[in-house]
Amino acid sequence: MISGFANSEIDTPALMGEIKRKKSMKQKVEHLAEQCRRFLKEEQILVDRERMSHFCYDATEMRFMPDIVLLPVSTEQVSMIMKLANAGEIPVTPQGGRTGLSGGALPVNGGILISFLRMNRILEIDEKNMQVRVEPGVVSADLQDALKSLDLFFPPDPSSTVESTLGGNVAENAGYTRAVKYGVTRDYVLGLEAVLPDGTIINVGGKTVKNVTGYDLVALLTGSEGTLAVVTGITLKVLPKPGFRRTCVFYLDDLVAAADLVVSIFASGIIPCAIEFMDSTSIGCVADYLSAADLRRDAAAMVLVEVDGYCAPAVDEEVARVLAAARSSVGVMEPRLAETDEEAERLWRIRRETLPALKSLGKEHLEADVVVPRYQLPMLARSIQEIGRGKKVGIATYGHAGDGNLHVTIQYRKGNFAEVEEAHSLLGEVYDSAIRMGGKLTGEHGVGLTAKNYMDRQMSKAEIGLMKRIKWAFDPKGILNPGKIFPDEERKGPA
Ligand SMILES: Cc1cc2nc3c(=O)[nH]c(=O)nc-3n(C[C@H](O)[C@H](O)[C@H](O)COP(=O)(O)OP(=O)(O)OC[C@H]3O[C@@H](n4cnc5c(N)ncnc54)[C@H](O)[C@@H]3O)c2cc1C
Repeated sequence: MISGFANSEIDTPALMGEIKRKKSMKQKVEHLAEQCRRFLKEEQILVDRERMSHFCYDATEMRFMPDIVLLPVSTEQVSMIMKLANAGEIPVTPQGGRTGLSGGALPVNGGILISFLRMNRILEIDEKNMQVRVEPGVVSADLQDALKSLDLFFPPDPSSTVESTLGGNVAENAGYTRAVKYGVTRDYVLGLEAVLPDGTIINVGGKTVKNVTGYDLVALLTGSEGTLAVVTGITLKVLPKPGFRRTCVFYLDDLVAAADLVVSIFASGIIPCAIEFMDSTSIGCVADYLSAADLRRDAAAMVLVEVDGYCAPAVDEEVARVLAAARSSVGVMEPRLAETDEEAERLWRIRRETLPALKSLGKEHLEADVVVPRYQLPMLARSIQEIGRGKKVGIATYGHAGDGNLHVTIQYRKGNFAEVEEAHSLLGEVYDSAIRMGGKLTGEHGVGLTAKNYMDRQMSKAEIGLMKRIKWAFDPKGILNPGKIFPDEERKGPA
């Protein structure tokens, strides 16, 4: 991207600087490609724009072209690439399935893009220890399929399961609908093999369930958005698959009624595995997208609740408690239990397709992934509705009510500058509103590119400075996934 335009006049020094930087990067990358040919096959090195264009975007729909794409098949190859990149001070961006919603896998400064598509082997399913060892490019759904026949499951399964990779899920500490009961990705990562920016291979954690030896580097790397180390091997805990699952659906006549419903369900003495929320805009949009005429467009919100377990009578008892809690809550229009597995699956498909349905409207959009204390979520949804009232841009909210994690989609027309400005201003108001309620900028999608310039609204200078010092301890040359997490003006060096 060429920056530096002021008052419609070209900022010549900035433009010249950019051209010089690109020229020197081109030379560095040509030299690097030569050296890579010593240990990578030709098919693992992409330099032509047409083939590289497949890797230049993710689910944010932003585009940044790398200078070279490398497709390693082993940890040693990743280590050699990192040694070369470190010596040449060339930026490196790790990439998995490109489903990220915060732009973390985009090579904003060009340079090397390492795609893990070819490191996609399930290395071991250790049934005795209930663990698996995988390469980072394994697609989430492929791991689920491999575990199914063994009656095992890996709970963290994001809605992007058919495309997202375990490396991406670990890097983002991904959440998913069942996190209410089972926790997030970090709760399942026991060990990581990773390559540091200087090429050193480390193995942190391992197969033990407990480990308090020194700082918890596994937890630090999980959720570090590919900015501290490149993950090349993952050891995960898996669980026996619950044999019984039931889904209830509730329509609400008021957004805030969802708060009481969630509280009543927890007060009934059970922990459901999922409590999901969709506002009326999301309901209407999915109803059109999936031609689901039975969805109630007159409702202010829809809540899906799933309970699961290993024993049918216990699950039935939990369902009875959920329905009783709903009947005693104000504003619940129609408490209902899905009669069949097919009906339950259809309801979950409706929830999973919310984002694709909103995107299908063909507008430009901004996404927020705010998280607040659980009880506040419906209040946040209402506050966002207020923020959007009378505005030209559209706002839809949906998400994980059981975790207080609300996804906000702000839609505006491409090229309409008034709407672009309004959308960005609304995004700022959404973040401020969540922070006022004790919330955070992002619950599961990560800071990446999209939330980095809002970091100082939530975090103090001291906290951002501490994070920068951690980044510098791992990556003193700042080559690994630069341009992410830290606000633009904070990028230059440790505080
Ligand atoms: C339809 C849809 C539904 C979604 N549902 C959910 C959901 O339910 N829950 C949720 O949390 N998210 C969800 N997401 C967001 C996204 O799927 C997750 O963030 C996912 O974990 C990203 O995985 P990925 O393989 O696509 O990673 P990418 O998008 O390729 O990369 C994401 C980040 O991981 C880093 N990375 C990738 N591989 C490595 C590696 N080997 N080592 C170090 N860093 C690495 C990248 O640099 C980047 O910062 C959804 C997205 C879509 C489009």
